[in-house]
Amino acid sequence: MNAAQDDLLALVRPDLRGFAGYSSARSSALQGEVWLNANESPWPNPADADAASRRYPDPQPQALRAALARLYGCEASQLLIGRGSDEAIDLLVRALCEPGRDAVVTTPPVFGMYAVSARLQAARLIEVPLRDGEDGFAPDLPAVVEAALAGAAKLVFLCSPSNPTGGALSPDDIAGVAEALAGRALVVVDEAYGEFSGQPSAVALMARHRNLAVLRTLSKAHALAAARIGCLIAQPQLIAVLRACQAPYPVPTPCAQLALAALAPEALAMTRERVAQLQRERERMQAALQRLPGVRRVYPSQGNYLLVRFDDADAAFQALLGTGVVVRDQRAAPQLDDALRISLGTPQQNDRVLAALQKSSPGSLDVPRSCEGRASNGAAA
Ligand SMILES: *Cc1c(COP(=O)(O)O)cnc(C)c1O
Repeated sequence: MNAAQDDLLALVRPDLRGFAGYSSARSSALQGEVWLNANESPWPNPADADAASRRYPDPQPQALRAALARLYGCEASQLLIGRGSDEAIDLLVRALCEPGRDAVVTTPPVFGMYAVSARLQAARLIEVPLRDGEDGFAPDLPAVVEAALAGAAKLVFLCSPSNPTGGALSPDDIAGVAEALAGRALVVVDEAYGEFSGQPSAVALMARHRNLAVLRTLSKAHALAAARIGCLIAQPQLIAVLRACQAPYPVPTPCAQLALAALAPEALAMTRERVAQLQRERERMQAALQRLPGVRRVYPSQGNYLLVRFDDADAAFQALLGTGVVVRDQRAAPQLDDALRISLGTPQQNDRVLAALQKSSPGSLDVPRSCEGRASNGAAA
């Protein structure tokens, strides 16, 4: 093992560096025709029509791993499939942070799972607040680096595009943080909304920055939230460590089959079309919401949601709820005590949002309605 590889494994908890994990029935290199080594049933369940689920699955289904690696532009050996990227976040914190000792850096207001995983592992949480500027919320990157070094953090989570604030980081910004923390911390870029962003993926930076890792998911743009398929992309040595810490059979076969089908060319083309449609809706909604009285600010967004400040966020939340539209109340989050996060829906659903908010603020101008919704080819359900 060369020095650079040692460097990365030095970030792993010392007590886990040689850990092999559970030795499952699928992980040995045995060959045979009659498999009687895992106490499986010799018959499929009558409900299991294609008998896909009788046996324990491949822990990292090969065809799916290869398809995801193609999709994200990495090697299969750099990719770990988990039960959503949520599991990958948890694995990272568990494998790198010694309880009661090591630290994780986050940039609130941000996706809550980094802090949840840190808490479960009794890792220290170092919070470097986002700064609310003219172009929207953005992390104070020099402060992030400084806090990570000062607190000897093992992990730095950067969310790009960031949930719920919507901003995305440039490759130069991410490379700068990775460079400054080389050998000191793993920089994890959460690209759950990467498909909606104008910024390229940080995966391309990984060849030059070994302490960089990227999270991707099929839950958002690919419309498979219930299949729970998310990925961590990182150096193969780190992937191997996390595999050892993961549950023995983390990817259910029906989920893997569905995910693989979703990555076939036709489905992928439809996904891309819908991403483009949501990007157009994002632009339309940004402008329309901004014109509504009672709306203080609509943040620019690279995701499939808009963060909106209201004069009376409670009234806006209730007005939406009153017409059956449920949005995310952000008021408990730091710096967001007047804000709601509104996911982008179909053009018709977005029109309902505008109509409800319009009605709740009488005396306002007319809202331009979507023509796309009515003229659509029926792709939007
Ligand atoms: C939704 C979301 C996730 C979780 O995705 P899963 O793959 O469904 O676990 C991760 N990160 C961010 C920022 C998210 O918003």
